[in-house]
Amino acid sequence: MLKIENLHASVAGKEILKGLSLEVKPGEVHAIMGPNGAGKSTLGNILAGRDGYEVTAGSVEFDGRALLELEPEERAAAGLFLAFQYPVEIPGVNNTYFLRAALNAQRKARDQEELDSMQFLKLVREKLAVLHLKDELLHRGVNEGFSGGEKKRNEIFQLAVLEPKLAILDETDSGLDIDALKTVADGVNALRTAERSFLVITHYQRLLEYIRPDVVHVLADGRIVQTGGPELALELEKHGYAWLKDRMAPEK
Ligand code: ADP
Ligand code: MG
Ligand code: MG
Repeated sequence: MLKIENLHASVAGKEILKGLSLEVKPGEVHAIMGPNGAGKSTLGNILAGRDGYEVTAGSVEFDGRALLELEPEERAAAGLFLAFQYPVEIPGVNNTYFLRAALNAQRKARDQEELDSMQFLKLVREKLAVLHLKDELLHRGVNEGFSGGEKKRNEIFQLAVLEPKLAILDETDSGLDIDALKTVADGVNALRTAERSFLVITHYQRLLEYIRPDVVHVLADGRIVQTGGPELALELEKHGYAWLKDRMAPEK
């Protein structure tokens, strides 16, 4: 599904990712944990194709394609979803309208027929039921005045409607209350399938109390320094990131 090999990347001339390798198979949930400033969000942003990052070496294969050569819209059409750490607000643009436009843009790029408003409404109802969400967010402006928890609910709703092959969720390092974390976790758990993969980026272990990842990676100083099962997250919670310092690979 996703194969990252020896990725090196810089922001504003400063090297942030220093040889990162990672492989996610279909249906797997991988967590990426790591201290502040390790490069977790940088990785998410590079995978999504956001501006401002320079990839200087390495490769990323997504579902058999060279991901880094695709435009952000092409990545989305290919089945990649990135929940932004700070979702944009688009006041005045109806949330449902926005989402239908996003879905139809992806369908069009895949040569699939676009959904009319009745078909889309049916899909929306199904997804709301799966996620046990109320329709209160649908008629508001995109993220307009949403609380942190509402933004998270909306993000998960977007994920459900867009049905990506791989979803990347970058959690903020602070500020999410337990309800918002549970929204994210319940959403991920409800949307897990044998084909769909998740890359869950998180600073804290708390989220992983609700989502049981198949694999946990620790990202520190621009590379993966440790990989293990769910128990690795518990070790980190117990000992803190300092515990990993001795285990880190020397600078290359
Ligand atoms: P994390 O998400 O693991 O906390 P980030 O990927 O956000 O880490 O940041 C990694 C490093 O890259 C930090 O040192 C940060 O200051 C730097 N960085 C990230 N984005 C930018 C940017 N746009 N300009 C300059 N430095 C940046
Ligand atoms: Mg950070
Ligand atoms: Mg971050």
